[in-house]
Amino acid sequence: MNTIIEPFRIKMVEPLRLTTPAERDAILRAAHFNPFLIPADDVLIDLLTDSGTSAMSAEQWAGMLRGDESYAGAKSWFRFETVMKEITGLPHVLPTHQGRASERILFELLGGPGKVIPNNNHFDTTRANCEHSGAAAVDLVIDEGKQPQSRHPFKGNMDVAKLERLIDEVGADRVPLVMLTVTNNSGGGQPVSLENVRAVRGVCDRHGIPFFLDACRFAENAYLIKLREPGQSGRSVADIVKELFSLADGATISAKKDGLVNIGGVLLMRDEHLAARANNLLILTEGFVTYGGLAGRDLEAMAQGFREVLDEHYLEYRLRSVAYLGEGLIRHGVRIVEPPGGHAIYVDAAEFCDHLTPDDFPGQALLCALYRHAGIRAVEIGSVMFGRIDKATGKAVHPPMQLVRLAVPRRVYTQSHMDYVIEAIGEVRANRQAIRGLRIVEAPEVLRHFTAKFAEA
Ligand SMILES: *Cc1c(COP(=O)(O)O)cnc(C)c1O
Repeated sequence: MNTIIEPFRIKMVEPLRLTTPAERDAILRAAHFNPFLIPADDVLIDLLTDSGTSAMSAEQWAGMLRGDESYAGAKSWFRFETVMKEITGLPHVLPTHQGRASERILFELLGGPGKVIPNNNHFDTTRANCEHSGAAAVDLVIDEGKQPQSRHPFKGNMDVAKLERLIDEVGADRVPLVMLTVTNNSGGGQPVSLENVRAVRGVCDRHGIPFFLDACRFAENAYLIKLREPGQSGRSVADIVKELFSLADGATISAKKDGLVNIGGVLLMRDEHLAARANNLLILTEGFVTYGGLAGRDLEAMAQGFREVLDEHYLEYRLRSVAYLGEGLIRHGVRIVEPPGGHAIYVDAAEFCDHLTPDDFPGQALLCALYRHAGIRAVEIGSVMFGRIDKATGKAVHPPMQLVRLAVPRRVYTQSHMDYVIEAIGEVRANRQAIRGLRIVEAPEVLRHFTAKFAEA
């Protein structure tokens, strides 16, 4: 059989609310042309993020009822800790309320003024937490990772020569850790190869620098390794995942992605002393070491979710349904970041809106067009998210790509939902010259994409 089906059936449904174009126009204006400010009930297909938007399984919901809410040493904690150790082999497991809490603790311990922290591409919260500590966040993805049309199978890889050069330039003592984001969310959801992880590990070993994974999508990355990396097709995903983590000194994870839950995170560490210091910070701001800001039932749902995500039938369906969306858009002439990544399709908004310049925020303008036309919500990954004003010159500095990310929530939408999205974007494309640029009216200094207000130019 060639048909890859959704490997689940649906037993609880949430109705979707249809709106008229006139209603959507008014909603968009009220939200200051920022989809983050649109109430979810006014969205038809929500591709804003795959984070925390998964549908949980019957077994996860059963776990929610079993949750042990003891303050210290709850059964749910031990179940969660056991699963995380089993999957990753890392000995110290710290529960956090989400990924950025893990990042904040890690960078408070290892970051600080004068430090330089390389990554393939820092995710937005990772960069913000790194910089908040006073450290500089440096992106060292391979050149192919910045070219939307390159079909390199592992566009999330780090440029190892650039890493060597950076360490030589600033000195190993100023590099407190090296990170790799798997899959590379800000760089198009592109995977990192095992070979690259080993190479980065090698560099870290030579200089005595700890190596951490930002492992939010470790299972999707491992499945893409199985599909694309020579010599890996015969291995189980669980085995590849084990090797990935065996190469790291620790990991920050948001369980809201491959953990298949709506809230939760993890900080994993190999070093006992560092873990002890991290536990002190955890107690200070998250919660006691056996719950870390979560309810016992959340720990149950995570324990089950991290197991389920390694199911290869699920991963086959997951990766295939994202690729299906990408292929449909390509048929309409839309340029996307190729090959399709693990959790999302990234549309090249600079090409889509080639009548606009980066100063017009083409990605944000495209988001608004998609919402107006079809009630679809997506997110901009371009000059709104990563652009900034140079303090010295007062000029806008733009990132290399203007992307619109269509993130696919896990186990939530069916193939016909994706068909609707493909058709709608094809229609927007047919009339793309009508898309108007935007200007920022009001924006905070950090993470401005969440709350910035815009007006049509
Ligand atoms: C989501 C995400 C984070 C942050 O996790 P939160 O749970 O949203 O705090 C960090 N890194 C990557 C790559 C992510 O995708």
